Amino acid sequence: MESDASGRLRALPPAHELLESSAARALSAALPHEAVRALVRKVLEELRRDLLAGSAPSDRDDLRRRAIQALEGEAARARAPRLRPVINATGVVLHTNLGRAPLGDEVLTHLARVSRGYATLEYDLEHGRRGHRDRLISALAASLLGAEDALVVNNNAAAVLLAATALAAGREVVVSRGELVEIGGAFRVPDILAAGGARMVEVGTTNRTRLSDYERAIGPDTALLLKVHRSNFALVGFTAEVSLRELAALGRARSVPVFEDQGSGALIDTRTFGLPREPTARQSIADGADLVSVSGDKLLGGPQAGIVAGRAKLIEALRRHPLARAMRPGRLVFAALEATLRIYAEGRAVEAIPTLAMLAVRPETLRARAEALLAATRALVPAEQAGALAIEASEGRVGGGAMPTARLPSWAVVVAARDGAHAAAIEEALRGGEDPPVIARVQGGRIVLDVRTIADDELMPAARKLARALGGTHEIGQDAGEGERRETNDDMGE
Ligand SMILES: *Cc1c(COP(=O)(O)O)cnc(C)c1O
Repeated sequence: MESDASGRLRALPPAHELLESSAARALSAALPHEAVRALVRKVLEELRRDLLAGSAPSDRDDLRRRAIQALEGEAARARAPRLRPVINATGVVLHTNLGRAPLGDEVLTHLARVSRGYATLEYDLEHGRRGHRDRLISALAASLLGAEDALVVNNNAAAVLLAATALAAGREVVVSRGELVEIGGAFRVPDILAAGGARMVEVGTTNRTRLSDYERAIGPDTALLLKVHRSNFALVGFTAEVSLRELAALGRARSVPVFEDQGSGALIDTRTFGLPREPTARQSIADGADLVSVSGDKLLGGPQAGIVAGRAKLIEALRRHPLARAMRPGRLVFAALEATLRIYAEGRAVEAIPTLAMLAVRPETLRARAEALLAATRALVPAEQAGALAIEASEGRVGGGAMPTARLPSWAVVVAARDGAHAAAIEEALRGGEDPPVIARVQGGRIVLDVRTIADDELMPAARKLARALGGTHEIGQDAGEGERRETNDDMGE
């Protein structure tokens, strides 16, 4: 046995030979030499295992061919971008793991136009001298939010950190115990305040906070009254909270600025989409907040950014702080955000901002879209597999930590799998491969593709992907099926 096995292993191509192959050279263009050597070792290790298990060819040339093929596969994967487009079939509109808000064509066109060459990022054309990126879109953002001034930073977490640092380092920030929230991705209000060097003064209880709690907490060291919008959870039952309006009145009376971390960046009334009312940043300013901060890529529907708006004196203090320099976005963000805000200014948001369009789409349209996806998929699979496909009513969500209790009635294409393992295999095949992966939900042994988040031009690619996932996981033996299956499994290795 022993000598038989070692005899077989002698047919393995030597590592140096593989390292000189064109596949390895292609890898070297994308990876450091050490990583290429490691991949060659990995390929040889796998071949060795297959050889010992008797599942590899014993012929020297065949083995070499197989090793090169495996290396070519690795090279293709190494060259492929890691940040890739996907089709979101989860029905979660602001999917944080999938990049939150998609950008519309108009925004992308502007982005491309100002990014291809040079642009007026910090240049004042009127006077022919240096300008300030800080002020590029301040006036536009401020006017949309009804504020005196505004500043754009990399995200809302940065906005809160900057405000805590610039306005309250070494001093106290008063905040309700009911608002010490965690947003995910390690944004926790107490930690952000601590990172900014501010001392947190908690008031009230988890479920009830009164105005008198804030009143008692204000002292000579109080720098800020902070209100955090509970954007990603709901507090129900025996609860009490102080409205922003009341808190703002208290702040004015005691000369302490009030800062609201509003989060979602809703600029239009969400009730127009049949959703619960989400407070808008404009309303926060109107209610008397001295500063309000929002994300650019949640309900606002723009690029990842943080906008902090409010009193000119406070915004100027943030702008001057050294941290602001470390948090400033680049021109890609300014371009996309300016184009997004202009759409709002022109009153075209619901049509031209994909996030809002997806929230606004009517159930009949979703049903027709689900029917189109069903028909396109059925046309691509054998009759017995077509029978496993159907459409049904579904429920999506806003996502992105916004409106956690709201449900979006939608429509979905549903695949009835044979069992849990089959469902998992289909879901995995949807995620694998070269074409845009389709991210779907698995629910009770079924695969659900909610069409609210699938754009019309993604329907055919989604149908092809689904058909292939079904073909690749059903009974092998049909030629196409077997080929597909192998391709899919290879890609799983990523
Ligand atoms: C989302 C959110 C944040 C974090 O915003 P990012 O833009 O993701 O950094 C902070 N506070 C609230 C209330 C939020 O909803």
